[in-house]
Amino acid sequence: MSPIKRKSTPLEDLRKYKEMTQETAGHFLSDGCRQTDGHRLLNCAKYVRTYRTPSNDTFIDALYCKHTHCPLCQRQKARKYRSKIHQLLDQNPYLLDSKWLYLTLTVRDCNVEDLRPTGDIMVKAFQRMRTRKLWKDNVLGGIRFIEVTESQVDRESVHPHFHCLLLVRPSMFAGNNYVSTVKWASEWQKALQAHYEPKVHIKRFNGKPDEIRSLIVGHAGYSMKPRKTVLDRRRFLIMTHEMRDLRRAESFGIIRTLFSELNGHANFEAIEQLEEIRQSYEPFIHVWDGRSNNYCSD
Ligand SMILES: [Zn+2]
Repeated sequence: MSPIKRKSTPLEDLRKYKEMTQETAGHFLSDGCRQTDGHRLLNCAKYVRTYRTPSNDTFIDALYCKHTHCPLCQRQKARKYRSKIHQLLDQNPYLLDSKWLYLTLTVRDCNVEDLRPTGDIMVKAFQRMRTRKLWKDNVLGGIRFIEVTESQVDRESVHPHFHCLLLVRPSMFAGNNYVSTVKWASEWQKALQAHYEPKVHIKRFNGKPDEIRSLIVGHAGYSMKPRKTVLDRRRFLIMTHEMRDLRRAESFGIIRTLFSELNGHANFEAIEQLEEIRQSYEPFIHVWDGRSNNYCSD
């Protein structure tokens, strides 16, 4: 068995996330009540097959654990979500000539132990925001992502926020109809029923259809991305408990309808392609070695 030393290959990329997955498994295993989660993550992509095609593409074939808080599986999920968005745009090309916004809505950082009630308040506020005139007059649909990052204030707190991809009426981009960041902040404050003005950020997507596609797909992928480093153990265990049953991405309005109408061709094609590769090429087998934190091949 020899460790694989080449860098920046798909397998090396996988290794980085597998290392984070092992660290995350360690967090779960330190808690007597979360042993099943820990073992599930330890087995995620433990055995990997790689296939090299004549065009020098590397295909990775692995069994993933599909745990919500597994870094490897979050990465897979973000990739799948990006494909789903591509599919949405392929089947509804007029969306590339439409107007899109990327709106970030935040609340004040909260203690990690208050994450659940804070998340519930945010979800309710978002529902309220959707009933407000500004929203109803302008927003046709979109996707809301929830992300929780660590707070810069202290090690007890976290920073929950929403990223929203919004399909808006063209009139919103015209002339005097520009809605400023201040106006969005005021709308969000009212929906939150908060005594402070929450921070919001707004970005308009401009460009040719190809650029709009790349902005939509890129921002959706960014909103679903796994963390770059593993959160400290205490906050991680409380946060994952508090975030149970909370859906990371939720579509609404016309985008929700269009998602429900997508046919599964793209998925079938991807599965068929992998099956063809499995039958046409000899795989290289790699096994995770916990001591060297690397994949080893026979
Ligand atoms: Zn996994």
